[in-house]
Order: sequence, then structure tokens, then C-alpha cells
Amino acid sequence: MRVLSGMRPSGKLHLGHYHGVLKNWLKLQNESECFFFVADWHALTTEYNNPSAIQDNIKEMALDWLSVGIDPEKSTVFLQSAIKEHAELHLLLSMITPIPWLERNPTYKEQIEEVKDKDLHTYGFLGYPILQTADIIIYKANAVPVGIDQAPHLELSREITRRFNFLYGETFPEPQTLLTETPKLLGTDGRKMSKSYNNAIFLSDAPDVIEKKILPMMTDPARQRRTDAGNPEICPVFFLHKIYSSADVIQKVDEGCRTAGIGCIECKKFVIPKIIEELKPIQEKRAEIVKTPDIVNDVLNKGNEKAGKIAQKTMEDVRKVLNL
Ligand code: SF4
Repeated sequence: MRVLSGMRPSGKLHLGHYHGVLKNWLKLQNESECFFFVADWHALTTEYNNPSAIQDNIKEMALDWLSVGIDPEKSTVFLQSAIKEHAELHLLLSMITPIPWLERNPTYKEQIEEVKDKDLHTYGFLGYPILQTADIIIYKANAVPVGIDQAPHLELSREITRRFNFLYGETFPEPQTLLTETPKLLGTDGRKMSKSYNNAIFLSDAPDVIEKKILPMMTDPARQRRTDAGNPEICPVFFLHKIYSSADVIQKVDEGCRTAGIGCIECKKFVIPKIIEELKPIQEKRAEIVKTPDIVNDVLNKGNEKAGKIAQKTMEDVRKVLNL
């Protein structure tokens, strides 16, 4: 099975990326033929007015991939913008994709309404799922790992693929959804963990930084005083326990919180060492990797070469069925 997945270069990665995406990639790279790419053109769909940080962000993100154990010997790790064929296929797919298919995309509608600090009324933003489709099918990928919120995007990719195959003959396999279970994990302020919300715990955060971020972390707002009972099910700290703590500790926290038997600081202190412990080997590996100059460029160049050959071959087939 050939699997493809990408990530926008947003710089250093945080626990949300690790538990939501990377752990799954680590599993997949041992089971399937994996293609993991840095989606730098996708970053421009929303950050077109500020491309200056992209190069640094690519480097930081790729270093994190390697530090957690993404292995370029097992997986093809490449840069989207290095494979120009993605753009050619995106153009050709845009010829056959009806605009209403793009306009009804729930993420598009939501972001157009919610994002007020930048103008997203561009073709690039509307056509983002077409580029995503090109990214996938140019490698004739069979499956794409997605969280439940990303599933409609992939459905649209499947529709575009079906339309292409219907118009020009069976050329691409329909990419299947590999639904990924992601544990609930929130930022230190109780919102979604995100670099832009300034609430993230990064994979490269030093132990004292992690402690400083978690000790004041938001808890169940009903626990104003130590003597107030709380509800762990709505507390972002408890979500961390569910990921990091043993069943015994989870049970102890659950009970202690509901009966005011433990305080929030005590509760946080149970989980902080666990996070530090898990990140330690990742940080040690990062420190080792950065000693090799140009490691990111070397890995990406090798991956670009391999991915490029497949993309070129696919485009030969595509041009043939389109009589180009
Ligand atoms: S005791 Fe723990 S789970 Fe309960 S509110 Fe405080 S931090 Fe959250």
C-alpha cells in the first residue's frame, strides 16, 4: 500500500503534531510505502503575504520529523515545491473541477467567515483541495491518513479523481481514507494547541520551559479554590494524563479531582515528568542530527529525486490521455 501525507511548514512542531500526526506516521512507515512531504506551496494559500519565514520553517519542521524517528531510508521525505509536476497536475485538474464543489468545502466556508486578519478570497485558497488532490494522485497513492475533520477534503479529492477517470479513462486509483484516531490534546489555555495561539508545548522545549508552561495551565474553571471539587473530563490537564499517565495515576487524578482530594498543582506535577521523559530521546536525537551540516537539504534532495521520477512518469501518462 502506498501512503501519502504532508504537513505545512509551520516551524517547530508541538505535542499536537506529535500525537495527532507523527506517531501515526512512525507506525505507517513500518507497514507501508510512505511518502511524506513538506507542503510549502500550501503554506502560501494563507501566508502569501509573508513568505519570508518559509525556509526556516521548512528546516525546523524537517528536523523535528527526523528527531521523532521519521526515517528517510524507509520513507520518501520530500519538498512539494521541488516537484513542479504537482503544479501542472493541479492546473489540469482545475479544468475539470466544478467551482461549487470547492465552495461547499466546509473548511473553506468556515475559514472565509472566521479569518478576519487576512484576505482569503483568492483562487489559491479556494483551489487548495485541487492542489491537495494533485499531491496525492500524482504518486498514485492508495491511502491518505486523515483525522475526522479532514475527511471531507479527501472525499473531494476522491470525487475529482473519479471525474478525471470518467473523462479520460482509468488513470488514477481512488485514494482511500485511512481514518486516524487522534487523542484529544489542548493547548495550555484550553484552546486547540497552536503556535499562533501561543499555547503550545514544543517538542524542543527544555524541561524548565515545559514546567513553566504547564504549572499555570488552564484547568476546570469551576475549581476556584483547592477545596472546590472539579470535573476532570473538561480539564486540559486531564487530557495530558490520559496520554501520558498510567491507569493508576489516571484513576487517582479522576477521583482526587472530583472529591477535591488533590490540588491542581499536585495533579500537574504528576504529568510534567512524563512529558519531559518522552521528549528526552527526541531532543537528544535532534542535538545529534544538527551536528551534520545540511542534513535537511540532503534528506530532501534525495527524497525529491525519488518522488520526482514517479511524478514525471505519472505526468507522461496524464499528457497522453489528454492528448497533450
Ligand atoms: S485536579 Fe487535575 S484534572 Fe482536576 S481540575 Fe485540577 S488539573 Fe484538572
